Amino acid sequence: MTNKRQALVTGANKGIGLAITKGLAQSGMSVWLGTRDRSRGQAAIQNLLDEGLDVRLLEIDVVNEVSVQRAAEAVSRETGALHVLVNNAGIILDPTAPPSKVRMEDAKATFEVNLFGPIRVTQAFIPLLTAAEGARVVMMGSGVGSLTLIADPTSIYSSVNLLAYTASKVALNAVTVSFAKELAAFGIKVNAVEPGHVQTDLNDNTGVLTPEEGAATAIKMALIGQDGPTGGFFGGHGRQPW
Ligand code: NAP
Repeated sequence: MTNKRQALVTGANKGIGLAITKGLAQSGMSVWLGTRDRSRGQAAIQNLLDEGLDVRLLEIDVVNEVSVQRAAEAVSRETGALHVLVNNAGIILDPTAPPSKVRMEDAKATFEVNLFGPIRVTQAFIPLLTAAEGARVVMMGSGVGSLTLIADPTSIYSSVNLLAYTASKVALNAVTVSFAKELAAFGIKVNAVEPGHVQTDLNDNTGVLTPEEGAATAIKMALIGQDGPTGGFFGGHGRQPW
């Protein structure tokens, strides 16, 4: 057992999740790099270990109940508390399909990762989160998860029409508010963030921000103090409209 502050980031073997993992480790935390594929995780973690960062691999497939339970047990064996959980894993399937052509199996699979995944993982880690004093949960939302912005023709987000992805991120905002209400009694703050348009495999590397820039708001909300907000939605310019 260790007394060092612990964090878990899901979908951390690349992209924004890897940058969040690095940033939290650089802040002095011991970070579990969540990956659904051990070999992809091992390839990713090596650079961080070479830099002397305190990071450990954790196999966790957020759509798989058994995998998530095993991951929670594995963390429990090593530590009594989880101070930060970043629900970062996310997918976009068939991005060129217009809403009328989105396959139901793709819509369901998208919700499994982007919405049910964060619910499943948060529930599984609640015993460890409540054991930490003032844990923080960050939900990786999206600008296209803002109904206000996607309906505003002056917003760049209104030009994006990804039925399943957008709906999953809109719903994730509601999940954020729900958990924030329940977990406030334990001093746990739960916030959704949006990273901006980040260059990652998710968008075929068409984004404009680096993963490190995209990770900044998630890291900030993971480390907010007792006077920080809960149940909110934040981006690089502060509070975002729902
Ligand atoms: P990415 O580079 O494609 O990374 C996505 C990560 O999620 C990968 O590690 C992937 O693992 C993992 N993942 C997918 N399904 C999973 C599952 N079932 N269980 C566990 N992990 C799983 O994309 P990214 O841009 O960094 O995305 C990270 C988050 O930011 C997502 O929630 C995304 O929606 C959000 N976001 C991104 C942008 C952007 O501009 N990039 C904008 C707004 C929001 P594998 O390598 O095994 O596939």
